[in-house]
Amino acid sequence: MPTLTPAMDQDPAVYKTLLESTRAIPWRIDWASMSFSYIGPQIETLLGWPQHSWVGINDWVERMHPDDRDYVVNFCVSQSKAGSDHEADYRALTASGGYVWIRDVVHVVRDAQGQVQALVGFMFDISERKKTEEHLARLQKQLEEYSYQDGLTGIANRRMFDSVLEREWADAQRTQQPLSLIVIDIDHFKQFNDHYGHIKGDECLKHVARTLSVAANRPRDFIARLGGEEFAWVLPDTDPAAARQIAERCLHLVRQQQIPHEASPISATLGLSLGVGTTVPSSNGAALAFVEKVDELLYIAKRAGRRRAEYADFRR
Ligand code: GH3
Ligand code: MG
Ligand code: MG
Repeated sequence: MPTLTPAMDQDPAVYKTLLESTRAIPWRIDWASMSFSYIGPQIETLLGWPQHSWVGINDWVERMHPDDRDYVVNFCVSQSKAGSDHEADYRALTASGGYVWIRDVVHVVRDAQGQVQALVGFMFDISERKKTEEHLARLQKQLEEYSYQDGLTGIANRRMFDSVLEREWADAQRTQQPLSLIVIDIDHFKQFNDHYGHIKGDECLKHVARTLSVAANRPRDFIARLGGEEFAWVLPDTDPAAARQIAERCLHLVRQQQIPHEASPISATLGLSLGVGTTVPSSNGAALAFVEKVDELLYIAKRAGRRRAEYADFRR
């Protein structure tokens, strides 16, 4: 380890020059008087308040965003009293009325008896880092929204369906209320795509999603696109009679739209087939097995000629 040269060891001007040429802003607070005994002149460049305007601890407290103030001041005071080095992020007020994100890194200086004598530290401008963090948080939020949303139709996707169904399944298991599920599949949609093209196919899926999503309206009724041309309604606290009504409304609403389907072998307009089931989950029953049973109903409806629903009550 090289030792300090006498010049550096003895000449405070060397330290001063070093301290005042960094981008971090050094400061010192005398603990007994709670006043600044030093702050680097760089503070004026960063915040606009001149060096000599930093006198008491209140100048620091008052030039802090009101939302950060209580937490940061309490935290710094308690850490300092306990003699612990610490750091805090907060928004510092500028002379022109704006705010700059600061990270204050604080070292507690104690005397030979262990009494707190002073606080010394550096303020760092972290506004760029904060901007990046905020940007990332926004992206993350967007990503979460996107990943539960079907990109084409804007309604919930399969992932969301799985999670909602699990939740409602557990709830119905606990309350022993009937849980209904409607699985919906567009009839002869392959022919629709082949005839009108994929773009029209996509538009049709959006149209159907919009149409289906008004068929039920209790707050916990939930619709998702399961994939392709398949949709599903999860209907909590819904008995077979109420589920039937909603299923019939789905059929009716889409029929009413009269979406042309010239290539369909069975009808001039687009139609749906539905499987509609109701259960009260037993203590060891699985949601997936229920979905499979309702899927079987859907295929019974298909085999029976399409444009219709097949119903079953799976309650014991
Ligand atoms: P069925 O009446 O038995 O349900 O016959 P179907 O033609 O509707 O069913 P099939 O499963 O044979 O074909 C589904 C078609 O749906 C295949 C594909 O052309 C179309 N499809 C699936 N996803 C999309 C999509 O995101 N956009 C478009 N445009 N078409 C899709
Ligand atoms: Mg299908
Ligand atoms: Mg289909």
